[in-house]
Amino acid sequence: MKKSCTLCSTNFQVSDKDLKFYDTVSPTFNGKKYSIPSPDICPDCRQQRRLAFCNERNLYPDTCDMCKKRILSEHAPHLNQVSYCRECWISDKWDVRDYGQDFDFSRPFFEQFYELMRRTPMLALNQTGTMQNSDYVHYTGFAKNCYLLAHADFCEDCMYGYGFKENRSCLDGFYNLHDELCYDCVDVHKSYGLTGCQDCQNCHSSAFLRDCIGCKNCFLCVGMREKEYCFENKQLSRADYEKKLAEIDLGSHVQYQKFSAARKELEKSHHFKEFQGHNLQNSFGNYLYNCKDCYYCFDCEDVEESSYCTQLVLGSKNNMDIYQYGTGLQQSLDSSISGDHSHHILFSHQVLLDCSDIYYCAHVHSCRNCFGSTSINHNQYLILNKQYTEKEYNELVPRIIEHMKAKASPLGELTSNQFGTHFPPQYSLFGYNKSSAQLYYPLTQEQAQDKGWHWDDYETPIPDVAKKITGKALPDNIKDITDDILNTAVECEVTGRLFKIMPLELQFYRKQKLPIPRRSPEQRHLDRFTLRNPRKFWQRQCDKCQKPLITTHSPQTNRTVYCDDCYTKALY
Ligand SMILES: [Zn+2]
Ligand SMILES: [Zn+2]
Ligand SMILES: [Zn+2]
Repeated sequence: MKKSCTLCSTNFQVSDKDLKFYDTVSPTFNGKKYSIPSPDICPDCRQQRRLAFCNERNLYPDTCDMCKKRILSEHAPHLNQVSYCRECWISDKWDVRDYGQDFDFSRPFFEQFYELMRRTPMLALNQTGTMQNSDYVHYTGFAKNCYLLAHADFCEDCMYGYGFKENRSCLDGFYNLHDELCYDCVDVHKSYGLTGCQDCQNCHSSAFLRDCIGCKNCFLCVGMREKEYCFENKQLSRADYEKKLAEIDLGSHVQYQKFSAARKELEKSHHFKEFQGHNLQNSFGNYLYNCKDCYYCFDCEDVEESSYCTQLVLGSKNNMDIYQYGTGLQQSLDSSISGDHSHHILFSHQVLLDCSDIYYCAHVHSCRNCFGSTSINHNQYLILNKQYTEKEYNELVPRIIEHMKAKASPLGELTSNQFGTHFPPQYSLFGYNKSSAQLYYPLTQEQAQDKGWHWDDYETPIPDVAKKITGKALPDNIKDITDDILNTAVECEVTGRLFKIMPLELQFYRKQKLPIPRRSPEQRHLDRFTLRNPRKFWQRQCDKCQKPLITTHSPQTNRTVYCDDCYTKALY
């Protein structure tokens, strides 16, 4: 079925398989199925809605509204959202049902849900498992001595990372899995001692590699397999390689930048594979690993039978339109940051820990059969946080669905009342610019506000510092940096925003002989993000065999792109 998006007019396809999926996950009450209609909005507009609900990277100093402990919160203090620390939120000192309200059939559902969220206490940060000395992390579990991570699990001594799993002593990374002592790396897996590398696996003691597997002691190389002592893609003897390396001092900012730029220059002569990933069966997307029957998915690992999913991991199956994170998620549709063995989650945000049959909810732990409820933990049969019996619940929810369907208009965004898509961005608790949607679908303040979406200019005040220094005024080499840097704020060379160097971080730079960054952590995250291909597809041809390709390598990049077959033949 060909459709035109009611929001952006892009043409998109709804396949028979998609329709079958909508039918399979349509909820049933009292033996009657309430069909989920096929979507009026395109995959990107659907993803944008989900991302607009997620604040993954802006954390603010705050106070727990119950125990008054100093905490960090994803809710900016000026928005006056009541938020609790983890201990208070899970305690029995409060009952979220006290905030419950009756459903008002004279008003749109989304409005009522938004009001409920605004007055219900929320969990300040999302952290799971044992956390040690790791306050400043979000969507993170089992961390020790970590700082500023998002979407990270089982990490130790790591800082400034996004998408970290089982890493030790890694700094400044985007999708680093099972790594140790890696710095400034993007999509690097199972590696040790890498600096400034991208798309590498099973490599160690190397710097400025791109698309390398199984290499060690290599410097400035692209597209290598199982090599040692290569420099600028040339094989050297061990003695020659060591002599060359002895002349290099990456502790110098100038030298670091020079080699970082040299890697990008070298990449111009590289032929890139049409997609990144391995162990794929009948799957289409990018950065996919061990996936089967996946369509239009990105950054997924161990996923089956899923479409339009991003950042799903660990045995997730039969899902559609899910942003993050999986771990045994099944039969779920159009939801964000949900998983951990949850089942049948529809149009919801942050539903985790063995939940099932959750519709239009946000911030849910271990619940079943809830509709339009928020900040709930071990609850059942709630509607707008009000407790019902099973019988009452099964009678009222269908009436609300009919109410939402009746008010639906083909204009989509202009109505706030619609069954079959995630909450529109105007009902997010976060400014559009503070949400992850701004990274993938950037808007100006004016554009966002024209759509009726929130904007939030609040910035955490920089703590009082005795001194400030510009990046340019910093000594070039790490060996000339004194401990005084810990009492000095550095001005980001791009944004002008002040940032601080943390003690653990300084220790890392000194030990690894790396320069002090001249850019703020947020700018560095953005820089790494820009190194990755966008989550978009273009049609082009294999530059070797001319076979037509659909790839995330835009024709504008002037890169040489090979199909999977030609790429493999050229390598070995
Ligand atoms: Zn659209
Ligand atoms: Zn508390
Ligand atoms: Zn080819």
